Amino acid sequence: MAEEKNPFQTAQAQFDKSADILGLPEDIREMLRWPMREFHFRIPVRTEDGAIKVFQGFRVQHSDARGPSKGGIRFHPNETIDTVRALAMWMTWKCAVADIPLGGGKGGVIVNPASLTPVEKERLCRGWVDQMWHNIGPRMDVPAPDVGTTPQMMAWMMDEYTKLQGQYVPGVFTGKPVDMGGSLGRTEATGFGVIFTVREAMKHLGLNPSQCTAAIQGFGNVAQYAAIGFRDLLGGKVVCVSCYDLADRCPYTYSHPDGVDPRFLQSITDQYGTIDRAKAEAAGYVIEDAMAWIDKDVDVLIPAALEDMITAETAPRIHKNVKIIAEGANGPTTLEGDEVIKSRGIFLIPDFLCNAGGVTTSYFEGVQNDMNYYWAREEVVERLDQKMTVAFHGVLDMAQQHKVYMRDAAYLVAVDRVVRAMRLRGWV
Ligand code: GLU
Repeated sequence: MAEEKNPFQTAQAQFDKSADILGLPEDIREMLRWPMREFHFRIPVRTEDGAIKVFQGFRVQHSDARGPSKGGIRFHPNETIDTVRALAMWMTWKCAVADIPLGGGKGGVIVNPASLTPVEKERLCRGWVDQMWHNIGPRMDVPAPDVGTTPQMMAWMMDEYTKLQGQYVPGVFTGKPVDMGGSLGRTEATGFGVIFTVREAMKHLGLNPSQCTAAIQGFGNVAQYAAIGFRDLLGGKVVCVSCYDLADRCPYTYSHPDGVDPRFLQSITDQYGTIDRAKAEAAGYVIEDAMAWIDKDVDVLIPAALEDMITAETAPRIHKNVKIIAEGANGPTTLEGDEVIKSRGIFLIPDFLCNAGGVTTSYFEGVQNDMNYYWAREEVVERLDQKMTVAFHGVLDMAQQHKVYMRDAAYLVAVDRVVRAMRLRGWV
């Protein structure tokens, strides 16, 4: 069996395929196969006991053809430059498919955030900005939260940037707390966006949402609000979620015979996303191994954790009754995993379409920061629903017209939009 590729090789292979279908010339491929710009830097942080710890930081700006680069910053112990490159490239396609006027970028720090005290976390956030502030900004590159980073961290980063600039610049980071320039509806935006696309997919397949079940991988921000949305917006039943257990250093799947109650699970989840096992067991939850979510007899699978989960090895375990896979995570499926999904005829909502709700609401946040006027939550959620629905049908139409897999269709829509911007700007 061929060796599975790293996330950046996967992202490049996916792009190459769409470039072939679109018949893109070599110059355009050369520009889009690689990030436009990358920053690698060291961040010294004074720990609370007075020592200096040095962290490795990254920011990758893949493309700003359609507008300022946009994308989160991950704090993760296994971060690599190739993961950040892949995620940056996917952000370019994500903003294009959602049709928001932004490009793609991503940042990271190799760190386990749970190993830092709050003071050290703040110093690391400010240190990241001290290294990057000349190369970010509302008209240049706008970071946001992602795995391991939070709204509070965005507030510290925005504050550091504001101090360095000598003027208040809220729009340099999005995903800020609502009390500090954030947008109502941003916290739930990615998970709800996933559910809006699932709703449209169900309509397309003729499924009744209230009779549908879902298995969700993860219990971070995306998974939590996908679970709440699946239950409360669609009226469906969530059979399980999974989450990383910090003490045991491995993930578990939590299922409940009556369906999980995501609000209850949220109430027993700590700040690092670990569910309190004892409390869950006392409430009747069954705790299974990490990948048990993938075997479940459900209608919808929502991988909403990290990349490389649906692989040559795990994809054959997907239950025959699964009709929709909604990729809440970025890059959860490898190229080999995709082949299995395709051959089984499962309807796929590809990652950069499915999880575009977060960045779309980040865009709304930036618009509100620019106007210095803030919308009600209903207005944000309604605009998000509209954007996600239009994006979903744009991709579905492309898939039907050209009889291609939904991931390929999403690429065709996104790459074409980016290439059009490059041509209009006279770059190629
Ligand atoms: N980190 C999120 C993503 O992967 C949101 C990015 C943003 O809001 O800029 O889409």
